[in-house]
Amino acid sequence: MRLINLSENNGEVRLEFFGCNLKCPYCVHITQPFEEYSIDQIIDFVRDSDAQKVFLGGAEPTIQKDLMSLIEELDRLGVETLLKSDGMKPEVLELAMPYVKGFVLELKAPMDDTASLAELTGMPEDRVDKYVANLSKSLELAKNKWLRIWIRLIPGYVTGKRFEKVIPLLEGASEVLLYQFLSNPDFDLPFKDYSDPVPSWNEMEELASIACHVVPTVVIIGENGKKSIHCGN
Ligand code: SF4
Repeated sequence: MRLINLSENNGEVRLEFFGCNLKCPYCVHITQPFEEYSIDQIIDFVRDSDAQKVFLGGAEPTIQKDLMSLIEELDRLGVETLLKSDGMKPEVLELAMPYVKGFVLELKAPMDDTASLAELTGMPEDRVDKYVANLSKSLELAKNKWLRIWIRLIPGYVTGKRFEKVIPLLEGASEVLLYQFLSNPDFDLPFKDYSDPVPSWNEMEELASIACHVVPTVVIIGENGKKSIHCGN
């Protein structure tokens, strides 16, 4: 399996896979160097770390052909696995469902905004319908388990009034993570002339309070670190 990162921190092993079926123009992960690991090497790493949690992220884990074998091995090891995805392969989420604790899915813009979705995913507009259909199915499936919906807040795409359009999609999720667009080569490549973190931390807190109407927990991450908000519903 091709990994750009295999590491352990605070009892959680993180695997970041190489390669993605989308080509988001701000993504730092799709060009990072990778190393090949066998499933046995990964399982040995997890076992030796004594970690109880494993996060499968990347770029995109669901395009790895041996992913299910790895997930089943992790289940046999007795660790809690979270699987992150862009939602393009709901059939993989369905196969993984019995073996994982939950999922992390990214929403990039309101689902009816074809032009923005094409721009943010790097795909031609005539393929956006398929992306929307697959992501919608992935969201529906993933809401049967613990689910974090991850939203990168890029002004003009998913802030202000447009944020309210994604609120119905959040209902049924366990947690929403609002991520400030950092415009930093270590996190997000500069995009659309944004070269500083956007939107402001205050605006992120306002958006968090809106999301709090429909989910129990909202987490905001950005230049000020991380803040968890328990919404009381
Ligand atoms: S879906 Fe995620 S990993 Fe894939 S290209 Fe976009 S930002 Fe990168």
